[in-house]
Amino acid sequence: MKALQYRTVGAAPEVVTVPDPEPGPGQVLLKVTAAGVCHSDIAVMSWSAEELSFPLPLTLGHEGVGTVAALGAGVTGVREGDSVAVYGPWGCGACIKCAEGKENYCLRAAELGIRPPGLGAPGSMAEYMLVDDPRHLVPLGGLDPVAAVPLTDAGLTPYHAVKRSLPKLVPGSTAVVIGTGGLGHVAIQLLRAMTAARVVALDVSEDKLSLARTVGAHQAILSDAGAAAKVRELTGGRGAEAVFDFVGIQPTVDTAGAIAATEGDVTLVGIGGGALPVGFGRQNYEVSVTAPYWGSRAELIEVLDLARAGDVSVHTETYSLGDAPEAYARLHDGKINGRAVILP
Ligand code: NAD
Ligand code: ZN
Ligand code: ZN
Repeated sequence: MKALQYRTVGAAPEVVTVPDPEPGPGQVLLKVTAAGVCHSDIAVMSWSAEELSFPLPLTLGHEGVGTVAALGAGVTGVREGDSVAVYGPWGCGACIKCAEGKENYCLRAAELGIRPPGLGAPGSMAEYMLVDDPRHLVPLGGLDPVAAVPLTDAGLTPYHAVKRSLPKLVPGSTAVVIGTGGLGHVAIQLLRAMTAARVVALDVSEDKLSLARTVGAHQAILSDAGAAAKVRELTGGRGAEAVFDFVGIQPTVDTAGAIAATEGDVTLVGIGGGALPVGFGRQNYEVSVTAPYWGSRAELIEVLDLARAGDVSVHTETYSLGDAPEAYARLHDGKINGRAVILP
């Protein structure tokens, strides 16, 4: 079969032919119908050989949707032909975090060498992919594969982040979304669907700010050195009760810290390497800072339910597997509006 692989440190990913996978005991084989392109893949492809925690080649794609093509021995609960979304942050299934459905925070994944598809295990940018356990599949329930596939990360990750701050996002509050790309433009929709907060979006280009307004941001502001002052002004000096940073570089993290209201939440989702030192007098009183990873299995079910209710709709651009390297190049250059989706 054809697969998009990251093969050489520092080089662009390539389409190659690899052996067709066969499901072992307990595994499920999917015919992939759609695979999403995430900025985290670009981060992975920028790491040095020492920083990479898994061997190459790697079949990319940690957002995947497909049709069940074959079942390994002993698999129950899914049938051939089912349309399913892949819950990507695989865990051991047995530790206390996994027991709560929080496989993203599995206590034993590192020790057992369990890696998510596309981030260590072979991913979804291929004609077929292996899923290690049927518990990592959620029925699509009639959702379109292209519209649904980004929800497995670009939907689930902001959903988890927003859910944590819901008690603070009461009427009259403000939520700020920094970086309105794949994750951020979904975050805006989630905030509008789940809260009464005023939503303010920050990004660096007019195209992105225009998408932010289209998907529901009340205000969209250029993300520059003056952005923090503008947000403070918009909020009468109070700041934002929740700030979600989907960039995570030092300038955006600094902005996030500067605009968080007293008792506000700062959630650093972007993996740009920025840090926000917390200490008396550095932020407003009692600001909480957190850096979450992905979301739980239950939250994926919830976010697919929201999409089915029509409350979230991802803006997508589709590419063939052969054109996937171009999708990555465009994402790198900030040219994708919404999420790029590969049709293997
Ligand atoms: P993306 O490229 O689709 O979106 C990033 C957006 O940020 C773009 O719209 C870009 O214009 C904007 N941007 C860049 N610099 C900016 C600045 N200085 N100020 C404001 N906006 C700026 O990326 P994505 O796929 O949505 O991923 C976003 C980030 O989240 C990445 O760092 C990715 O690695 C990370 N991520 C983290 C998790 C997690 O679990 N923590 C999960 C998925 C993705
Ligand atoms: Zn991702
Ligand atoms: Zn576990």
